[in-house]
Amino acid sequence: MKVLVGAGSCGFAAGAHKVMDELEQIKDIQFEYEITGCIGMCHLEPIMEIHDNGEMYRFVKVMPEDVRPILEDYKNFADKMISEIDSEGLEKQPRVVLRNCGVINPESIDDYINIGGYEAIKNCYESKSQDAVIDEIKKSGLRGRGGAGFPTWFKWDAAKKSAGQKKYVVCNADEGDPGAFMDRSVLEGDPHNLIEGMMICGFAIGADEGIVYVRAEYPLAILRLQKAIEDATERGFLGENIFGIPGRNFSLRIKAGAGAFVCGEETALIASLEGERGMPRLKPPFPAQKGYWQLPTNINNVETFANVPWIIKNGGEAFAKYGIETSRGTKVFALTGKVKKGGLVEVPMGISLKEIIYGVGGGIVGDRPFKAVQLGGPSGGCVPAELIDTKVDYESITKTGAIVGSGGMVVMDDTTCMVDMARFFLDFTCKESCGKCTYCRLGTKRMLEILERITAGEGREGDIELLEELSYKVKDGSLCGLGQTAPNPVLTTIKYFRNEYEDHIYNKT
Ligand code: SF4
Repeated sequence: MKVLVGAGSCGFAAGAHKVMDELEQIKDIQFEYEITGCIGMCHLEPIMEIHDNGEMYRFVKVMPEDVRPILEDYKNFADKMISEIDSEGLEKQPRVVLRNCGVINPESIDDYINIGGYEAIKNCYESKSQDAVIDEIKKSGLRGRGGAGFPTWFKWDAAKKSAGQKKYVVCNADEGDPGAFMDRSVLEGDPHNLIEGMMICGFAIGADEGIVYVRAEYPLAILRLQKAIEDATERGFLGENIFGIPGRNFSLRIKAGAGAFVCGEETALIASLEGERGMPRLKPPFPAQKGYWQLPTNINNVETFANVPWIIKNGGEAFAKYGIETSRGTKVFALTGKVKKGGLVEVPMGISLKEIIYGVGGGIVGDRPFKAVQLGGPSGGCVPAELIDTKVDYESITKTGAIVGSGGMVVMDDTTCMVDMARFFLDFTCKESCGKCTYCRLGTKRMLEILERITAGEGREGDIELLEELSYKVKDGSLCGLGQTAPNPVLTTIKYFRNEYEDHIYNKT
């Protein structure tokens, strides 16, 4: 009998450590005990699974006092056992990025090796050319999952073609959107997969060094990634002459960032890596030409790299079978807010918002009316109930005024004030502005002042128009994505919920 406990940050926040303490104290029952990453149903943590004779029994919201009774009679402990129907939102998801999260022990390199880990990079080293790897990524149609959706193969090809005596692979793990935890969960649940994805990129572009830029607020992710790097180095998967093949070298290290949202922008991230204040730089030159220390550098986010080993193993065409023409593959979302089954979900691109919110998420808490969903965090926008059939692909979501973004999906019911929601996100971006551009630095401040007075019932006639005017000026006058997208929550709420602004201003609600 094997016991598996969900030990991602979501599990620990709900009390998984107490369940683990209890398990460690039980000596009179024979069982193996392992931890795993986020299982995907964060709303039901702490989760404990019993695997026995090929059967799996899943228990949710487990309290320390439940542990012994479950172990003693798990087949009949119906109280906290979750049925297949309850977890079908999870079982129905096609899992590429999250295939090992909640399945293997992220602290065990053997677990990763036993499910075919590091075979994709071995295959690249032994029998593929750099161009063949880039071609496979091109066939897959993979686009950057950090938010911009830029074709991954194109960036890799540009970095490969750039001249430089040394090149770098950088992973952007500076996830900072309120409501987003996709990258954290991958780092905590399957760190070797990220390492392998970065190694494959290194091979494709000709880089022998990688850096993972991860925010210091993710201590568990850093701990597990550090252990994974050390274990991989000790086993000869990282370092020099990997697999005994001369010249196949790749080293990896972590840089813990101080948690500035703007460092998710790749040139600001590079500045921070170089020890400078994290401020965006003018492009061109692009990082693929002159990046870290002016050398060719490829930057992708965690989810993008996490797709790569699967693509190399299964082929680009297999990946492209998921999704639709312009948006291939799957996408991981952090489903939060007023949804019944919140957590980490992976869905094929092209699925509708309705299928995610009602199919995977189980609908709205208390069966209240669905009002809107905020996509893409502070850089994104809200999509109202009337557009719930919108397909989740880069182009369709952009048409609504929101963005797919990195994967934050905050669901709102009819009790949410949309003006207050816009105020919350603008307050965030205003505080996170690096201050380089006048419109971003001061324009967002002026917009926030207006939103604050509107929500305080002190709005004035003309405030909505002023907000719109300032929004376009901030967008046009900003150097980087932070400022260019900061007004999106305001613009989309004005577009779809103008009546709420008017109510606040004219009826002093
Ligand atoms: Fe800094 Fe904002 Fe300008 Fe970006 S847009 S460089 S965050 S001031």
